[in-house]
Order: sequence, then C-alpha cells, then structure tokens
Amino acid sequence: MNIVFATNNSNKIKEVQTLLPSNIKLISLKDIGCLEEIPETQNTIEGNAIQKANYIKEHYGLDCFADDTGLEVQALNGAPGVFSARYAGPQRNADDNMNLLLSKLKSKNNRLARFKTVIALHFKGELITFEGICEGEITQEKAGFDGFGYDPVFQPTTYKKTFAEISLAEKNRIGHRGKAVSKLVAYFK
Ligand code: IMP
Repeated sequence: MNIVFATNNSNKIKEVQTLLPSNIKLISLKDIGCLEEIPETQNTIEGNAIQKANYIKEHYGLDCFADDTGLEVQALNGAPGVFSARYAGPQRNADDNMNLLLSKLKSKNNRLARFKTVIALHFKGELITFEGICEGEITQEKAGFDGFGYDPVFQPTTYKKTFAEISLAEKNRIGHRGKAVSKLVAYFK
C-alpha cells in the first residue's frame, strides 16, 4: 500500500518509513506534484495537522497523513509550541530558533520541555488523529550533530544526551513522532 505523507522533509520521511511495515510505502508531496506551500494557519498543533491532511484530501483526492510538531517549554508558557518552526522569524532557521530559545531560558531554572506530535490521517473516508509526547528538558548549550530542528538542545528525561547525540533508532523508540507513528501503525494493523 502507498500512502501520502504530507511533507517534503526527507529526514521525517526517513524516520517514519523505518517505523512502518515494509508493505506500506510513503509518497512525498513532491512525488504527487504538490509543490505549493500548504497553509498552516491554525493556532494549535492538532489544528495544523488536520488542516494539512484536509488540504491534500481536498486538492488531490488521496488518502494521506500529515504531522505537526511543537516544542512546548514550561517556563515559557508552552512557547514556541505551534510556532516552533518560525520561532526566530520567517527564515525558519534551526540555529536561530535554538539561539533564541537558549537566550530566553538563560535566567530560568525550570528547563522542562516536551515535544508534541499530532498525526492526522485521512483513510477510507475517516479522519483520525494520533498524539505522541516526549518529555525532557532544554540543555544549557547545543550538543550533537544528528537530527534536525531543536534536537541539539533537547535532552529526553532520564537521558544524559541530546536527541542530536543519540541514534535515529533510539530517537524513534522514545521520541514524540515515533510514539505517534506507532499508534498510526497499530491502527493500520
Ligand atoms: P513540524 O510541524 O513537524 O514541521 O515541526 C515544526 C518545527 O518543530 C520544526 O521546524 C522543528 O524546528 C521542530 N521539530 C519538529 N520535530 C522535531 C524533532 O524531532 N526534533 C527537533 N525539532 C523538531
């Protein structure tokens, strides 16, 4: 079975494909000729995931799933949350975002944070959502080179390493997207 994953982020496609059974093949937005920017104008993570999945269903008529993720930092009242990608501005630059986050947390003792992923799936006429959460904290400085986004500053609970210092397999096992995808896989099964 082929299913559209409404993203062009090759890191994500790689992450999610490794979690799916081998009979489910992911198709990217580029593969279906969707080159336009899909609107993400909702003010919740769940709302944005649903908006993206709806867009593909409405414009391309294909079953699909879309994900939206945010980093919620307790001392910042849940920011950057739904604005995680463009926290430091419309350039959506990971280093700029991390630098801004580290500077906002400079004087804070509470560094607790969590990643939250919501996947919205259109499948056989139904719309279903799956949520995955990974608790952790924001480090004092960046560490590690793997992964993407805020990985170098996010240390999952009970770990002494950031997401950027652990293997992709380990990140998938304990991570927010991995947990949401596990629920998606269980649904397909
Ligand atoms: P998206 O909704 O999945 O595109 O995620 C929004 C933003 O959250 C991304 O641009 C990244 O900055 C950040 N993000 C999402 N997933 C991860 C992750 O697994 N690690 C680190 N940052 C992430």
